[in-house]
Amino acid sequence: MADLISYVWMCVLVMVTIFKQLPNWSIIFGGLVLLPTVSALPNAGPFPDISFNVFSQFILEHLGSDITLSQVLVVLFTLTENMDLLSLHSRQQNPKYSGEAHSSPSAWIKCLAHELQERLGTDQNQLYADQETAVSDTVNVISTNLDALAKTLGLYPYDSNGKFKGKLKPVSHESIQPVHMICPEAVVCQMAKCKPQSLVLEVKLRDIPRVTLIKGCTAHANVQVLTGQCPGCKTCILQIMSVLQNQETNIPKYT
Ligand SMILES: [Zn+2]
Repeated sequence: MADLISYVWMCVLVMVTIFKQLPNWSIIFGGLVLLPTVSALPNAGPFPDISFNVFSQFILEHLGSDITLSQVLVVLFTLTENMDLLSLHSRQQNPKYSGEAHSSPSAWIKCLAHELQERLGTDQNQLYADQETAVSDTVNVISTNLDALAKTLGLYPYDSNGKFKGKLKPVSHESIQPVHMICPEAVVCQMAKCKPQSLVLEVKLRDIPRVTLIKGCTAHANVQVLTGQCPGCKTCILQIMSVLQNQETNIPKYT
């Protein structure tokens, strides 16, 4: 494998007096499209595609009434990031050979529940419904909730008849990637001889250049680069990102 080449973006705010040379910027950014992009996990499964209504109903019925969005997301991504553990857990729920004991909840899912408890700390009571607060074995309650949520999300390799459908695959997060836009950092004109008035976007949609944006070690293709314009002095303001190569960085290698 070739040595690591990482890309470090340096954001520089540049103010350029308008001179109708936007195509030049397109050339600069266009060259960056040649950068490598991070591909999806090989042999990955799709992200759970249940309706938000079903998901929210589950949260309302099984988790604490004061649970926050970030805590809900921690629970969701804890499940989607632990397919191996869910496979082990579900296998114990479906004994196949003599001597195997049905275990629900399994020690696997209990371990995950305990880790979530530690993560939420003093808010760990949000991992179960309010009416469950009197229960002494909270790990068991949380494990049951995680098991039920995994099944609601389709992260369970057995059908309703107990037939094995195939090993759970790592979950791809490609479908939930956000939209990225590159915009000026400044929100008003910063020219010394001008007023700090708000910037407007006057570039036509078809003229907006698109680039590959590197954030951390992830490449996001086809990102729009928006240029702001001061309506007073006609100054264009944009954010330019340059590329540096650094052989000594500790950013993970592309493989
Ligand atoms: Zn101005």
